[in-house]
Amino acid sequence: MSTTLDVDILCIGAGGGAYPAAFRLARAGRRVVMVDPKGVMSGNCLAEGCVPSKAVREAASLWTRAQHFARFGIQRTPAVDYGAVVAHKDAVQERRYVQHAEELKAFGDRLELVKGVARFLDERRLKVEGPNVDREYRAKQVIIASGADITIPPIPGAENCLTSRDVFALNPSVRSLPDPLLVVGGGYIGLETACFFRAFGVKVRVLEMTNQLLPGFDPRMVMELGRLLDSEIVVTLNAKVETIEKTATGFKVWYSRDGRRESAESAQVLIAVGRSPVIPEGSERIGLELERGGIKADEAQRTNIPGLYACGDINNQAPLFHAAVRQSLVAAANILAGTAVDYFDRDSVPFTVFTLPAAACVGATPLTASRLGINVIEAAASLSEDSRAQILDETGGEVRLFFSSGSLRLIGGWVIGLDAENLISEIGLAVARGLTARDLAEFPGQHPMAAETITRAARSLF
Ligand code: ADP
Repeated sequence: MSTTLDVDILCIGAGGGAYPAAFRLARAGRRVVMVDPKGVMSGNCLAEGCVPSKAVREAASLWTRAQHFARFGIQRTPAVDYGAVVAHKDAVQERRYVQHAEELKAFGDRLELVKGVARFLDERRLKVEGPNVDREYRAKQVIIASGADITIPPIPGAENCLTSRDVFALNPSVRSLPDPLLVVGGGYIGLETACFFRAFGVKVRVLEMTNQLLPGFDPRMVMELGRLLDSEIVVTLNAKVETIEKTATGFKVWYSRDGRRESAESAQVLIAVGRSPVIPEGSERIGLELERGGIKADEAQRTNIPGLYACGDINNQAPLFHAAVRQSLVAAANILAGTAVDYFDRDSVPFTVFTLPAAACVGATPLTASRLGINVIEAAASLSEDSRAQILDETGGEVRLFFSSGSLRLIGGWVIGLDAENLISEIGLAVARGLTARDLAEFPGQHPMAAETITRAARSLF
């Protein structure tokens, strides 16, 4: 039997685009309901994305470092216990689910998480169906934060291959090293996973359809990163996979390259061609405008329908957990104010490719700035002269900063190599707050840490 419940705000999803707003709004006294088929908070980031993949990455990174320093007598075991790595990853996920459940409980009746799937009946009414619910909600505002899902390309046989879910989900099906591994897709998920498994000794091959790894990233950054990746990762560019056949020992992957048909065999194949927004049913029927395959939202997270907001991967603006969180808080502020008072700044979102080593960027590059007619002054410093890089014997890579000429305002930058994943936050904050080359140069970047290299790059201009 269907009953209609009135709530102030209904969030479709309970991931990074939803729960920060839900918390903020519930704290402000609004009655909030989040709906998610997982029945737990934190969305795909914790279920199969950032957190579990970084748990595996840190193990791979430590393993690499330990092997490098084996000359100090640090125990060198012949092979990694990958089952133990997976157990650690699972434990981190479980711990965070417990933590989120406690956070939710603290809100009492003001905030409810309903296990189910939501679909639009009209602009304010949603049907929610799940194992224990069949209910209609009427909401004053709706936050659409249904995220994104793994894209399975229309390649015959792709459905038999692994995806990142098989590797990173809680209790994943992949519990031993997939060796050899062929990765279809040289984007960040494919390349990161290739690096983790290569670090554990797996024979890895990557097939990428376009003419560079990490399509969409600045080609100079990608080229510099490419020099630092494990040279035993075999990369084939311009390779368009067409069919994947099962064989007695694994898979045969057929691809076209320069007009020729070629094939590669592998015990395991991982499909990593990206993620696509999950549009809730009924969205188009009620007139929600789409853009870039997702639901269109402006900088205040408003969709084209008043009272409906779209946050996180669903709007495909910056499909990263921390961007989703910021967008969610923007939506909450604007709902509370009843008008647009807060705006998301897409140009200051750090993006790290967690390869080994990582490459990370934020804001504009000379390439994107030139399209906007902005003249750029570049400042760079190599990690080869950095004390921490020398201590760890990881001296490849650089910090490169981009300033608007004249004002010398920092508009972007990248870090390739040691600690890139951390250093980019400092650069991102400087971009977000409009700091100049002089501001960075006058800051005593901490010695003997790699952050010094940011300061060194800025000081090179004076
Ligand atoms: P984001 O970081 O953008 O919030 P996530 O993918 O982490 O994205 O989280 C989105 C969540 O939304 C996922 O847990 C997904 O299961 C859930 N979801 C997707 N479609 C629906 C729907 N129609 N109703 C409710 N929840 C949904």
